Amino acid sequence: MMQSHSYQHKNIAVFGLGKSGMATARQLHLGAAHVFVWDDNEARRKAALEAGLIVQDLTENSWPEAEALVLSPGVPLTHPAPHPVVNLAKEAGAAVIGDIEIFLQEKEAGRVIGVTGTNGKSTTSALIHHLLISAGKSSALGGNIGTPVMDLPELDQEGCYVLELSSYQLDLTPSWQADIAILLNITPDHLDRHGDMEGYAAVKKRIFQNQDESSVAIINIDDPLCEHIATCLAIHGEGKLIPVSTTSPVAGGGSVIDGRLEDRSSDDQSWTMDISKIGSLRGRHNWQNAAAAVAAARTAGLTPDEIRDGLQSFGGLAHRMEEVGQCENILFINDSKATNAEAAEKALTSFDNIFWIAGGRQKVGGIASLEPHFNRIRGAFLIGEATESFAETLEGKVPFQKCQDLNDAAKRAAEAAREMGEGSTVVLLSPAAASFDQFASFEARGDAFRAAVRQWITEEML
Ligand code: ADP
Repeated sequence: MMQSHSYQHKNIAVFGLGKSGMATARQLHLGAAHVFVWDDNEARRKAALEAGLIVQDLTENSWPEAEALVLSPGVPLTHPAPHPVVNLAKEAGAAVIGDIEIFLQEKEAGRVIGVTGTNGKSTTSALIHHLLISAGKSSALGGNIGTPVMDLPELDQEGCYVLELSSYQLDLTPSWQADIAILLNITPDHLDRHGDMEGYAAVKKRIFQNQDESSVAIINIDDPLCEHIATCLAIHGEGKLIPVSTTSPVAGGGSVIDGRLEDRSSDDQSWTMDISKIGSLRGRHNWQNAAAAVAAARTAGLTPDEIRDGLQSFGGLAHRMEEVGQCENILFINDSKATNAEAAEKALTSFDNIFWIAGGRQKVGGIASLEPHFNRIRGAFLIGEATESFAETLEGKVPFQKCQDLNDAAKRAAEAAREMGEGSTVVLLSPAAASFDQFASFEARGDAFRAAVRQWITEEML
């Protein structure tokens, strides 16, 4: 555990007691800091009190003369307007930071591999961690994925911290510095929190800040905004630049074209591998993630053979194009994480003969942008609040059924796929909508789908 001593006998405030806020407060407390905490949620305040923390309403005019405010990344820092606690802290001259800033202050050894981007952060971070672990290296995975950074174990000099960072977390980490930094893509998202695209891109670019001649920057140059950043780094950057692409081979970089990975990131050896048959890395978006992860793993000292083995054994992440069953020629895929059309497009372009389960709480624009891929869909099975609107978009283009719920949709889709007979088919849950009208989270939706699929397959086998 990363016990924090930099605030020993000093006052520090922690606002927001989710998993990462609570872990930070606990480690600061163990390091003998005076930790003042607050959360709007009463149950969380109670847990904090039981953990020996000082619970005090930080939004009232009772600022505890703290040297720093550790802010939960979910709380607005600048846009649409700073949260009142941010103003109070700034007026008192306190630094406003996140848990990753404290982690970097406390970390004694180990390299930092930072991953950011609008999409693909979790997959890429998990893949890098998997490649390192399966090659017998010591690696700890945390940040925006899984374990809060302050709960990560201490590593030695050879170890790697693989950290997934959202733009909010970067915003709260003024002294961010990564040995290996990865930027995957920048597309419009969270603009309410960053003002505009320029503000959002500026924050994402900070993944490369403070890099020196021993650092490595890995960037997907297929993305126009990222390509621009790569050009700036090529001119002004101190470290090594490794471009990656899924459209053309890149000198000194990595590419995956039509499923063939080619890694030329290391000076001593270039090598290739066919990754088109690896189920957990289906789709061009995952090839992009793989190209970046491979470049990071190579930089961290893995051999091509170690990387080959690791790619083959990567199981992928739950709810992201996750294989949850196979029954004769029908493959069942859980892509519950696809909560908007842009994400669902990635899944729709990865398969043919799709029996598509979609719907939930609709996002702006619905599924109109997916029309170029409707020809891959044999039938659509609609659920939730978006049913009527999705049906309108599909009318006359794709046969659809309005279903009672996810269970009903899974059953109907599986039966329609079976009726198609010969040829491989896919029953795909890629909802292009949020889950909250029917489920507590996209994870709960994906779990329900997995259970429905298992039940259908079991009944089929009887
Ligand atoms: P994040 O952690 O950034 O949210 P994930 O790895 O969890 O990303 O993937 C979430 C969804 O984003 C996936 O289900 C897929 O639809 C899409 N996605 C994944 N990787 C990429 C990528 N490199 N480019 C674009 N979209 C991607």
